[in-house]
Amino acid sequence: MQTVSCPSCGAPVQFRSHAAVMAVCEFCRATVLKDADSVKDIGKMSSVLEDYSPIQIGTSGVAGQRGFTVVGRIQLRYSQGIWNEWFLLFDDASTAWLGDSSGLFTITTERTVTNALPRFEDIVPGHLYPIAEARFTASEKRVADCIGGQGELPFKVGPGYQARVADFRSGARFVTLDYSDGERPVFYDGVSTTLGQMKCQLLRDDEQIKASAGKYRGKVDALDCPSCGSAIKFLPGVTTSLVCPACAARLDASGPEAQVLAAGEKVARVRTTLELGAVAKISGSDHTVIGAMVRADDENTEWTEYLVYNTRAGFFWLVETADGWFRANVLDNWPNWQSTGSNDATLDGVIYRKKYDYAARVKFAAGAFNWRVAVGDQVRVLEFENGNTSLAAELSDAELTWSRSTPVAFDQVRAWFGAAVKGSAPAAKGGAEKGRNSTAIKFMWWVLGLNAIPLLFNFDDTLLVLAAALFALFYPPAMFRNND
Ligand SMILES: [Zn+2]
Ligand SMILES: [Zn+2]
Repeated sequence: MQTVSCPSCGAPVQFRSHAAVMAVCEFCRATVLKDADSVKDIGKMSSVLEDYSPIQIGTSGVAGQRGFTVVGRIQLRYSQGIWNEWFLLFDDASTAWLGDSSGLFTITTERTVTNALPRFEDIVPGHLYPIAEARFTASEKRVADCIGGQGELPFKVGPGYQARVADFRSGARFVTLDYSDGERPVFYDGVSTTLGQMKCQLLRDDEQIKASAGKYRGKVDALDCPSCGSAIKFLPGVTTSLVCPACAARLDASGPEAQVLAAGEKVARVRTTLELGAVAKISGSDHTVIGAMVRADDENTEWTEYLVYNTRAGFFWLVETADGWFRANVLDNWPNWQSTGSNDATLDGVIYRKKYDYAARVKFAAGAFNWRVAVGDQVRVLEFENGNTSLAAELSDAELTWSRSTPVAFDQVRAWFGAAVKGSAPAAKGGAEKGRNSTAIKFMWWVLGLNAIPLLFNFDDTLLVLAAALFALFYPPAMFRNND
């Protein structure tokens, strides 16, 4: 450890890592540069925005059997929100980065690669790229501004620093290519992780987070909509994107003060089977519906997706369709999938066959989400199936995500949520199923019309056969509707 005096205020500034080239004085925020033997002040660093991360300078943990301490942090803002990159110093003096974005964590270490790497401009989420010894799928590409920093950092960073990064995945591996310093990217190799896996110590507790940011983390909390004043429940720090259920205003709740991103558009209020705040008892613990959105495909078939959260288990999606209910989880371990054109995806040795390829558009959203959602957002969805289980790739210009879903019996949903379930079994309520039936009926009339025209001129007993056939086709959906 090296301790220097802050050239601006004289306070001691510590350099625990040999890799650090600068440190932010914790007293006066001067950026102290350590080059060779001299130390100079290169201006003030903006203070970090108080967020709800439990990590702080001094937090310790383990990764790959080695102990680490958090010694620095940069905070970045991009179009989808804010995230932190924490600079880790391991006990063996090596360093790494801990990415901390809406409660999702990754640990990456800088590595040297000799092969050609893609240009930032050429990276398309969903495409495969050879990086180091493996082929990786581009998962996300973003340009972000550094908005603040703390502690020791391994490169010079300050106001105006812009990060240009692309993330890639292959199975459980996660890598980042960082183009911030030029055409040739810096390669960071790593994995996804959790607070539990890192066995973190000296985390900020709820009281400390409350004191600094004004809210509790991990509890369903509330704030008043800055647009209309109604109370909105959300999870500070975890769900930073809100859509006011009363006025549909889109809000950014990443800081203690919620900001209005866009005023609400006039959309008809949608009554969902599960309302925001509905609580399920699953394996003895409470899981709460914090967000709901209605999406539709190219044929305007609609379904509803509920974002369900538990403090320890995190998020899952409950999806209500005309074909029944499904439970979906976002995957950290990615399937092997060659390209957007390939017909199968393999996960854990199981092959899933492509079943659907369609566009999904958000028609309605309300509540809290862990990414920015807006009515009109459109993604391409590719669904792959094996038996009851399906994998879905959701692809946009900026991002690719994978999820796995399995059916959930309606009785199970009712057992979880009890009286909070408004409505009956999906077959009886589905807008989509009803749509399909009315389409079927319209089609029958069309067939009848088309076939009956010649019959009007050439009447014989084939009409009876046709009528019987049409009755057989037509009757089941009609009966179905009458049972509603
Ligand atoms: Zn100072
Ligand atoms: Zn509102």
